[in-house]
Amino acid sequence: MSANHYEFFKVVQGYLEEAADVIHLPRHVADILSQPKNEIIVHFPVRMDNGEMQLFKGYRIQHNNIRGPYKGGIRYHEAVTLDDVKALASMMTWKCALMDIPFGGAKGGVKVNASKHSKDELMRITRRFTHALGSNIGPEYDIPAPDVGTNAQTMVWMMDTYMNRVGDMEKNAQRHVVTGKSISAGGSQGREKATAQGAIYCLLEWAKDNDFHLEGKTAIVQGFGNVGSHSSQILNKLGVSTIAVGDHSGYLYNPEGFNAAKLAQYVKQNGSIAGYPSGQPIEREDFFKIKADIFIPAALENQIGAEEARSLSCKVVVEGANGPTNPEGERVLADKGITVIPDILANAGGVTVSYYEWVQNKRSEFWDAEEVDEKLERRMVRQYQKVMDFARNHRVLPRVAAYCLALENLKAAYEERGIFP
Ligand code: GLU
Repeated sequence: MSANHYEFFKVVQGYLEEAADVIHLPRHVADILSQPKNEIIVHFPVRMDNGEMQLFKGYRIQHNNIRGPYKGGIRYHEAVTLDDVKALASMMTWKCALMDIPFGGAKGGVKVNASKHSKDELMRITRRFTHALGSNIGPEYDIPAPDVGTNAQTMVWMMDTYMNRVGDMEKNAQRHVVTGKSISAGGSQGREKATAQGAIYCLLEWAKDNDFHLEGKTAIVQGFGNVGSHSSQILNKLGVSTIAVGDHSGYLYNPEGFNAAKLAQYVKQNGSIAGYPSGQPIEREDFFKIKADIFIPAALENQIGAEEARSLSCKVVVEGANGPTNPEGERVLADKGITVIPDILANAGGVTVSYYEWVQNKRSEFWDAEEVDEKLERRMVRQYQKVMDFARNHRVLPRVAAYCLALENLKAAYEERGIFP
């Protein structure tokens, strides 16, 4: 399915409208939330290793900050569009509001295929992008994090570049300008696996509620980057085997189950799952037809349409990616009785631990892995139950319930503060 003709932002606006109706959100609040506050587009030249200049296009969309500083990842992908980044920025607002994290929502992106550039080129692209954003980001104003195509290294480059705007004495007070940093640069324990960990905490709750025993069960995972590979590894430890995986290079099937840690290592070295010895290549359409208990989409948006949904035979879809299920796909899944744990809940572990990292930086604290995990688990379980209770009580899909709860929090903020002047 081509993502090009998919109007992602319109789809997310549709979710907003649907939930706004359920909770009778005042029209003016729905109107405000239907558009981003700021749309920043920059073009910047970068010198390539061969000495030539290349011009890049970057975005930072600041959707909303009524609940706290703008917050959200930076995506490096050659297909990034303004429409995508707007959709993803608004989803960060819903995600932070749903999780009760004192942040607003933002998202950034650079149109670039990271795998085609050397480490040095990526560093210069990142530094130049950060420079171009200038004071549009800041530790108390707008805080980037990793997303598709970026990682802790990207964040450390951003942090270091941003720090050069200020004098030496203030530098350390600026570390929380980005989250998802390496531990040595001030990152948090547990941040790297946080998105996957949060998704699995949701899955564990779902399993409890549905009397479903995870041990010995099977999963298929689409996308084997940060979220997919960590999900698969955590599932392995729970006795769930991943029997099919896919990424931009293709799909692999292994009925015996992949060794997730080894596959993750392979992807780190080779850039994709292509050529991994212990799996048989299959077509994308056959991937969706594989009989497995759990499906974790952890790649890009708009991957599960009506056709894919008709093929799927799993019991639960845990959305590690943002927007992987499109509305047609979701209707088919609902008719088939397949539960979808929606993105703004299922993948909120990432921004939740980002928040913990930000708090640790501000307080000059360093929490151990257990403390981070405990806090994350408590919050994920609590919000999961709230979403599922709302869905049951109002007879709506979990996605609508999640949007309703997020909007309730935003509504409260607007009601108290009113509209300036
Ligand atoms: N990019 C991640 C997301 O979509 C994390 C954002 C963050 O930590 O700020 O939720």
